[in-house]
Amino acid sequence: MLIHKPYPFLLFFIISFHFSHTALSQVHIDSSAIPIFWEIADTLSADQAPSVVLWEKFATHPAYAQIQASGNRVSFLKKVLPLVFMPSKSEQLKKVLEGKESAFQYFAQHLVEVKSKRKDLAKFLSAADFEGYKVAYRKSLNYLPLDIEEDQVQLNIYLALFEDNGFGGKVITMDLLHLLRGTSEENLDFFAHEFHHALRGHTQKHQLYAPTSSTVYPIIEALNKIPLEGVASILDKSKYFDQAYYGNSSAIHPNQMETIEEFQQLVAEAPANLAQIDSILTSAATPAEKGKQIFQQLPWSGHVIGFYMSSAIEKKRGRKILVKAQYSSVRFFAQYQKAAKKDKSLYRFSKEAIAALKELNE
Ligand SMILES: [Zn+2]
Repeated sequence: MLIHKPYPFLLFFIISFHFSHTALSQVHIDSSAIPIFWEIADTLSADQAPSVVLWEKFATHPAYAQIQASGNRVSFLKKVLPLVFMPSKSEQLKKVLEGKESAFQYFAQHLVEVKSKRKDLAKFLSAADFEGYKVAYRKSLNYLPLDIEEDQVQLNIYLALFEDNGFGGKVITMDLLHLLRGTSEENLDFFAHEFHHALRGHTQKHQLYAPTSSTVYPIIEALNKIPLEGVASILDKSKYFDQAYYGNSSAIHPNQMETIEEFQQLVAEAPANLAQIDSILTSAATPAEKGKQIFQQLPWSGHVIGFYMSSAIEKKRGRKILVKAQYSSVRFFAQYQKAAKKDKSLYRFSKEAIAALKELNE
């Protein structure tokens, strides 16, 4: 039986720094979720159930709260952590690891590696060049309005242990083992994508969303995924199409658990999805049905179609126009259509679809 010794310096270890190159934003890297994770793990390693209070401390930490909001992941962790760390559950763990592919197995495999790499993770946390993420931050600013500099935006990046993943919203939560495994270039690209989500989310004044009470809101909501994921994907996925990067084509994309090769394939098929979206927009379906059908035409939750359309706008209309258009899906589609008129290789929407978009009347 292996019981990990706690690393005392980790318990109170919080890295915090400011990006001084710009007045606007402060980025805080916060690793305070890590010692809570190990407190749970150590309790379980002693074959004891963590108290309600300890689970509560875990689940209410902002990092784990964000993970829970992204698909009830804390509920998964509460079931998988005992399997991975409790010696009395080792048989059950074996069954999950050797059994059919499942979400349980996906979490368990990751946490088994976390368990075996505790020392490496601690070393990485104390030595990694988190200051280097400034580069990613600056990269994401290239795709945001200039007046973002006037706002005082504070971004928190939480480091935690959960699965091979990261989530970006108004805060970013990143798995520490994922960062340890990634090359610094991969990590920078990932952060540029997530910074963009976070900063776009903070710049509400530019957004032109239809009110949620609007009858056409389900359509707007589905279409909004496209600029949201598209512009952020320019930051980390453009290089998937570089010859030099192609050697990595079988690499797993950090957020999607899919390969780069698959992404390239899906982008090549994007015109077929757009043709479907065209006929959905002009169909007699209700707004709720249309919204649902559009979602079904957005592989990788909008990243693929968004990348295809955003790249076209940037190439044919310029980055400035893309930056402005990203806050309104109606504007975004209008700019895309202008790009498609300039480049015959791009999918072009029907007049009827463009008229239907205008009627959404944001
Ligand atoms: Zn994204």
